[in-house]
Amino acid sequence: MKSWLLYFLAFAAAIGAVPAVGGLYGEDERSVLISVKRSDGVIESVGIEEFVAAVICSEYGEVNEPEAAKALAVAVRSAALYVDLHGCRHGDCDFCDSPDCCFLFLPLESYPAETARFAVEAAKSTEGFIITYRGEPAMALITLCSGTGTRTCREYPYITGVKRETECEKHKTVKTFTVAELEKVFGGAKEESDVCIVSGENGYCEFMVVDGRMIGGGEAAGKLGLTSANFTADRDGDGNVVFVCRGAGSGYGLDLCEAEALARAGSGYKSIIGRAFPESEICENY
Ligand SMILES: [Zn+2]
Ligand SMILES: [Zn+2]
Repeated sequence: MKSWLLYFLAFAAAIGAVPAVGGLYGEDERSVLISVKRSDGVIESVGIEEFVAAVICSEYGEVNEPEAAKALAVAVRSAALYVDLHGCRHGDCDFCDSPDCCFLFLPLESYPAETARFAVEAAKSTEGFIITYRGEPAMALITLCSGTGTRTCREYPYITGVKRETECEKHKTVKTFTVAELEKVFGGAKEESDVCIVSGENGYCEFMVVDGRMIGGGEAAGKLGLTSANFTADRDGDGNVVFVCRGAGSGYGLDLCEAEALARAGSGYKSIIGRAFPESEICENY
């Protein structure tokens, strides 16, 4: 038998064919199909629990602790149900497969057996659990690492900034630019390139001023090739500009790097989620 078929069968057995119970919005959410648009434009439909497991697989390596994987499972399931209810920016699908926009999505059977088993176990053991806000599934955003803490998202009232107790060293990067290099990145910089950063919540760059021009923190991070908008800048002895970037990803919601550290220290997935989304609740949906 082909190995992918074995995984599929193992997965089907793990998920099981349990009768519908009905959840928050009166359907059997277990059978909700999530549509994912691949980079080649093809739209695939997968069951929500398989979608959850596939996203956990894509984070394997960063997330290795079972309780951190369970927290991720609950967050992804909540986001999937939220999009199923409210739609998303894509219109023609629930998610795309780009990690910069939605989630990296590859079929479960494309991962090593051990990874798939780990992910299915995390999905299975939290099956039906979602994060809710005022009784509705929450759009639980996820970030690889917030470095110093997460940030408040204006769009969703339950995504509020949470300061990390210990700053992450693993996802801290330093990048040095000469004035000429900065000129290339931003254009029009003068000889003594004047860079100023206005920081906000938990150290994230709100905007950067380069020679009098204002650039948003996220856009500046993208142009500089930094992994997060959580960065500061300083000048070294030679006049170069040294950027120190803390963390990776959007900085919103569940911090996977912190979740991993908390799980290693003995926290369960419910307390990890409670810390990441203090305004919301965990609810068993099916
Ligand atoms: Zn997308
Ligand atoms: Zn980290």
